[in-house]
Amino acid sequence: MIIDGQKSENERGILRMDNLLDFKNSDLRTKLFAVLAITGCISNIAGFTANAILFGFTTQTLMCALCAVVIISASMYGFFSGRTYVATFIILLILGFIEFPLLYISYGESTMVYMLVAEIGIVTFMKSGHRVIMGTAVFIVDIAAFIVRHTCPQFNVASDSLGIDTLISFIIAFFAILVAVAMVIIQYEQQARELGRMGEELTQAVNTDPLTEIRNRRYLIRYLENQTAEMADEKHYAVLIDLDYFKSVNDTYGHVFGDRVLKKFADTVKENLGEKDLLARFGGEEFMILFATDNAEAVLTVMNRISKEYAQFSEREKGKEFTFSAGAALYGRDSSITDIFTAADKRLYKAKAAGRNMIVAD
Ligand code: GH3
Ligand code: MG
Ligand code: MG
Repeated sequence: MIIDGQKSENERGILRMDNLLDFKNSDLRTKLFAVLAITGCISNIAGFTANAILFGFTTQTLMCALCAVVIISASMYGFFSGRTYVATFIILLILGFIEFPLLYISYGESTMVYMLVAEIGIVTFMKSGHRVIMGTAVFIVDIAAFIVRHTCPQFNVASDSLGIDTLISFIIAFFAILVAVAMVIIQYEQQARELGRMGEELTQAVNTDPLTEIRNRRYLIRYLENQTAEMADEKHYAVLIDLDYFKSVNDTYGHVFGDRVLKKFADTVKENLGEKDLLARFGGEEFMILFATDNAEAVLTVMNRISKEYAQFSEREKGKEFTFSAGAALYGRDSSITDIFTAADKRLYKAKAAGRNMIVAD
């Protein structure tokens, strides 16, 4: 229940978890797109300039200029609209199907390296399903360009000699690949760091109760499994706590206050435990403490202190002493999780049946 438009602590916890589970896929896409857009724009402008210098303002040079304009526009569109994959598609379509095959038909071997660059671009920047289709289609277009080049000499502008134009093509292609690879590596490293951090946060989140920020039942079970497996010939106390009349706390003071009480109770318990003890939220208003001792006196002393502080808190807040009941059971290396939970629950039930506000132990 939400009172006065306030979000309950439970809800806030869920929202935090949602944020964590958002893996920033769109971020990754945008970063990858930036690599293609930046290298695509720069190398296309370089290609156009080299063309203009080597051959003047021919039809091919103008075609390069037109492709550069489309690629720059597609890049802008991708950045501003966020539809980066559509823009990626347009850029690779222009490069793979139009610009590079036409350059090859016109200039021959000196521009062949661009065809390789287009295929590398497709493999790197396209989604896996599209990669194969587009890669194959571009390959077929490249073969067609090869056939046209050798069967229709009227389209040839330069011969197949390996001259300065080849060197320039290589430099541009080399530069494009180098910049793209460097940017991808940098982004990959950033992403790997981010993923590592998110992995740690996620592990923390799946083991933590969002409201009380203590360990949850999932963690408790794993902890108990490991602990009992490694236990020597010793016994420890497991104490199952259930807050008394908690439904009426909610009904009387509201759910938001109920949440506050749960958080306060968890904080109070934590403050009274030793480093080797463990507190977990067992369920709604139920908690379990694993004491690293079989000393009933010591356990009782701590439980009484918690009881006193819990009552003092509620007295301060609402002028009424809140109580809890608890069942304490000894467990050891031979105890299963079910044994431990059942034994503690039985004693808790006894405490409730006997009038609440008490702890029943072995
Ligand atoms: P008893 O003394 O027999 O334990 O009575 P009770 O009212 O505590 O027991 P019951 O099981 O009937 O009610 C438990 C209540 O705990 C009901 C539920 O609304 C409340 N509760 C469980 N989880 C949360 C929570 O996260 N926040 C709040 N505010 N209340 C919760
Ligand atoms: Mg209960
Ligand atoms: Mg209760």
